[in-house]
Amino acid sequence: MTDIKNVTVAGSGVLGSQIAYQSAYSGKNVTIYDISDDAVAKAKNRVKDLRSLYEHDLNIDDAEFEAGLENLSYSSDLADAVKDADLVIEAIPEKPEIKHSFYQQLAKVAPAKTIFASNSSTLIPSMFMDDTGRPEKFLNLHFANQVWLNNTAEVMGSPKTDPEIYKEIVEYAREIGMVPIQLQKEQPGYILNSLLIPFLNAGQELWTKGVADPQTIDKTWMKATGAPQGPFAILDVVGLRTAYNITATYAASTQDKQLQVVVDSIKKLLDEGKLGRESGEGFYKY
Ligand code: NAD
Repeated sequence: MTDIKNVTVAGSGVLGSQIAYQSAYSGKNVTIYDISDDAVAKAKNRVKDLRSLYEHDLNIDDAEFEAGLENLSYSSDLADAVKDADLVIEAIPEKPEIKHSFYQQLAKVAPAKTIFASNSSTLIPSMFMDDTGRPEKFLNLHFANQVWLNNTAEVMGSPKTDPEIYKEIVEYAREIGMVPIQLQKEQPGYILNSLLIPFLNAGQELWTKGVADPQTIDKTWMKATGAPQGPFAILDVVGLRTAYNITATYAASTQDKQLQVVVDSIKKLLDEGKLGRESGEGFYKY
């Protein structure tokens, strides 16, 4: 058993809302923090939307789902949200400048005991450890989308992470029903995204080069390998906002022109309000 009882999840979008509810459902005392009252109101709706998924996928009843809700509270005031936190899990946008500034603010208001964990998909803990003021208590804890089903939690420290803190977070992951995957060293993208992102990019490049449409590309992958989903169905689950942030950062750093065409094509879908599953339409309609 860890000493982690009070958990604050910062950022309550696609993943933050899932991580928060899964932790609350597992008996942790969870505060959801987001930047504004409006964002907090959206968080409440996202958590409500998890009810049918949990009840269907885990075969639980209303009372069991409600018990998780009772462990959740909400705040748009960072200092208040973290005042007694044993652990802060950060799930804010995948943009380095936003994360740097968040950790600098958090370092000022969090108690000394608080461990910080980032759910970043592609950014390594060394990038932010100096912002945290506590590099020994900082590491990445990376969840996969639909945490209650796809329950891996990749744990990745920086060279400065205290091995005892690393072990405690591995144990925390188990306590909330995850299968901890322990990485031995920093790797942008961990194991999952080191495999997944090149795969998704390859699919999108086939589409934007005009080789085939998304449905044909997905069908080819599924039929030929027996996989349940192709790249575009996966992109709809991930959410096109996050897919855009990751691909835009990567395209800018590599100056890859074909990938920039992908970025522009996703931006077009976002401008049309097609965010993926969460908005009812992305590459497919739901
Ligand atoms: P999202 O865009 O759905 O949600 C981001 C949330 O952060 C929003 O609610 C936004 O209001 C909030 N936010 C913005 N600035 C903030 C700040 N300064 N402080 C607090 N909250 C702030 O994003 P997401 O898809 O949930 O991704 C969040 C993080 O999780 C990213 O680092 C992403 O790479 C990672 N991640 C995403 C997935 C996925 O499948 N979507 C999977 C694993 C990891």
